[in-house]
Amino acid sequence: MNHQRIDAALRDATDTQNVTIGAGVLGSVEDVFEQSFGDRAAVVVADENTLAVAGEEVRERLEVAGRRLVEPYVFAGRPTLYADYGNVVTLRETLRAHDAVPVAVGSGTLNDLVKRAVHELGRPYMVVATAASMDGYTAFGASIAREGFKQTLACPAPRAVLADLDVLMDAPSEMTASGYADLLGKVTAGADWLFADALEVEKIDPHLWSLVQDPLREWTGKPAELRAGDREAMERLTEGLILTGLAMQAYQSSRPASGAEHQFSHLWEMEGLGQNDDPPLSHGFKVGVGSIAIAALYGRILRRDLSDLDIEALRESWPTREELEKEVRAAHTTSGLGEAAVEQSLAKYVNAGGLAHRLERLCRLWSELRERVAKQSLSAEQTSAMLRAAGCPTGPSEIGLSIPDFKATYSRSRMIRKRYTVLDLAAETGVFEECVDELFAAPDGFWAHHAASRPDAELPR
Ligand SMILES: [Zn+2]
Repeated sequence: MNHQRIDAALRDATDTQNVTIGAGVLGSVEDVFEQSFGDRAAVVVADENTLAVAGEEVRERLEVAGRRLVEPYVFAGRPTLYADYGNVVTLRETLRAHDAVPVAVGSGTLNDLVKRAVHELGRPYMVVATAASMDGYTAFGASIAREGFKQTLACPAPRAVLADLDVLMDAPSEMTASGYADLLGKVTAGADWLFADALEVEKIDPHLWSLVQDPLREWTGKPAELRAGDREAMERLTEGLILTGLAMQAYQSSRPASGAEHQFSHLWEMEGLGQNDDPPLSHGFKVGVGSIAIAALYGRILRRDLSDLDIEALRESWPTREELEKEVRAAHTTSGLGEAAVEQSLAKYVNAGGLAHRLERLCRLWSELRERVAKQSLSAEQTSAMLRAAGCPTGPSEIGLSIPDFKATYSRSRMIRKRYTVLDLAAETGVFEECVDELFAAPDGFWAHHAASRPDAELPR
């Protein structure tokens, strides 16, 4: 564990003051609670599974230390807990009856429910992680479904985070694999930010960039060992997930950790892909397949010479706001999604003049930028091999998507977030359709032979 890195990240964090990661740290839950909340009463919030895994022990340790306790709040263990706003309301109303500080014991969904509920009560909380399954522990905001529509609701991150490696090692292996995929997605997220920065859409924060990108290869370098139960690989994964969460917290947006690969995931999430599976298709697994898809798109784009674009022709054929709105509406038929996608797409719309200016800049910077982005990137083959080694799905059929639906995700996912990504770059330079068609139909197209078996690519060193 790199304590210097964690301390540096905590200095920039707005909400989180204490991160404790290590084997056996569950034993220090009372100390962490005391440092963070003084003599306030505590209430464990868990589900039946996480209560058994760590919640009961947390409660006992607090009790033995003489801490005032309120009876735990326990969600049912089955079916798998869902991040629905109704659950936030139920929890909030129960917590309202006292002023105890919640200790959330669980992973993504449970943490998100508590995060939002305590925010509505103006109360702080801490979280005890039960799986290294995503980067949301320390992130700002909670991903909650409201009227069937998953969205990020604003709310501060926990004041303290405790992650006991012994507990995380015992989590279901798919959860660890999901966390790995969520972390590996920072590679394409970083590449997207490089483009957004160079084209003056969204400046890079150099400090937060380094916080996520500098150790990323180290955090993600041992997928097979992670799957085999290697403790050091788990430690790296956990550090990576917690630190990228802190970067999002400091930036007050997910930009440092989320790009086009997450837009694939968000689109599928909003359309309910795998939601009724048991357990439901995880965030990380969707991000993983999205990361391969985006790495493959990067591969097609980076082999082109974009320094000599016909800017006049691109400008002529660029849609007006009205045309864009029509196009976005036609592409999204899921209830509520069309409206949201129109709003997001218009928020990043540039007019033809703005486009020409951006493209001139791109042409000027292309050779240098291409090199920089290529250095940041992993090929689709490498990304796929790493994810497979970690035990993640690596293709559309494994997550229940047909090839046509998967192919359509490329253009549809571009529309659902205002974030500037490689999907926008491809559209603005006029190569979007060409590149996507090549991926599925060209002899060397990455998805063209996906159904057929192929040898695993070498893992990058
Ligand atoms: Zn994520």
